[in-house]
Amino acid sequence: MIDLRSDTVTKPTEAMRAAMAAAPVGDDVYGEDPTVQALEAQVAALLGHEAGLFCASGSLANVLGVRLLVEPGQEVVCDVTAHIARAEMGAHAALHGLTMRTFPSVRGRLDAGQVAAIVAPDAGPYLVSTAAVAVENTHNFGGGTIQPYEQLAEVAELCRSTGMGYHLDGARLWNAHVATGVDLPAYGKLFDTASVCFSKGLGAPVGSVLVSSADNIARARVWRKRLGAGWRQAGILAAGAAYALDHHVARLGDDHAAARTFATAVAERAAEAVDPAGVETNIVVLDTADVPAGPIAAEAAVHGVLVSALGAHMIRAVTHLDVTAEQCHDAGEILGGLLAGAR
Ligand SMILES: *Cc1c(COP(=O)(O)O)cnc(C)c1O
Repeated sequence: MIDLRSDTVTKPTEAMRAAMAAAPVGDDVYGEDPTVQALEAQVAALLGHEAGLFCASGSLANVLGVRLLVEPGQEVVCDVTAHIARAEMGAHAALHGLTMRTFPSVRGRLDAGQVAAIVAPDAGPYLVSTAAVAVENTHNFGGGTIQPYEQLAEVAELCRSTGMGYHLDGARLWNAHVATGVDLPAYGKLFDTASVCFSKGLGAPVGSVLVSSADNIARARVWRKRLGAGWRQAGILAAGAAYALDHHVARLGDDHAAARTFATAVAERAAEAVDPAGVETNIVVLDTADVPAGPIAAEAAVHGVLVSALGAHMIRAVTHLDVTAEQCHDAGEILGGLLAGAR
């Protein structure tokens, strides 16, 4: 099977497992796990922030990051296909009593004008005030879209000048960094809170880190414990994340090239489904037009290729550590052939 459903399907390498097995550990609720502390400090420094908090998932890191900036009854503004709006099971509202409004986007790409048009930082006594803006880089459902730096910076300036918080869902910030060469502190410094993930393209089994000021992270630690998400000898997991940081960031360029290879093979057979030039990182979205996506994905599975049908006419393929460029080429031939045959 060539599994392109997500970059979360990777399994830890032998070397990563060895690093995990050898990690010094302690009770992290007592603040005594040296491997967790080292990872939190390393990631905070990488992003130019004071402190970090290791979390079990990206959703948890986002829920905590947004909660630091938004009080119950206030709103966070994000784009209409944002992971925090669509894929976190309503956690921000269900757990923390905040509301969301969304602005439109094309492929998830940030347009500062769209943000400025809907935020209401000081809405007075009769309307909900916007407490924070959240953006995603790269954008998942948009298809691995890289946010233009000047748009990110323009929204940062809007937030700063109007007193709104600014959160980055950086689950795949590593991909944006490798694809653009923009350094990580340049991204990090724009935001009050930022989450990054180790179990996507970096190939670790578990974990995200939230970064912010030392005061904010101390508050987030309390909120995390309140949610029942304090943990003990988590250094075993932090060691996998640290290993991924040291060994699996630079190679993300290979995933980006493999995604292009996949898209090119699809387009050679079904040109309308995807423009290979529009593939920016490791995610490829296929537009199946009037052909239903579900049966195409099911048929691909019969031919040994797993992809996700994420919408009625949308298929997503994601490249990662555990697939080769050659496999991605073969998978593209199969998907392209099925799409051409169905039309
Ligand atoms: C995967 C992902 C997350 C977090 O997901 P978890 O499954 O909770 O780790 C957050 N944001 C984006 C953009 C993602 O792709």
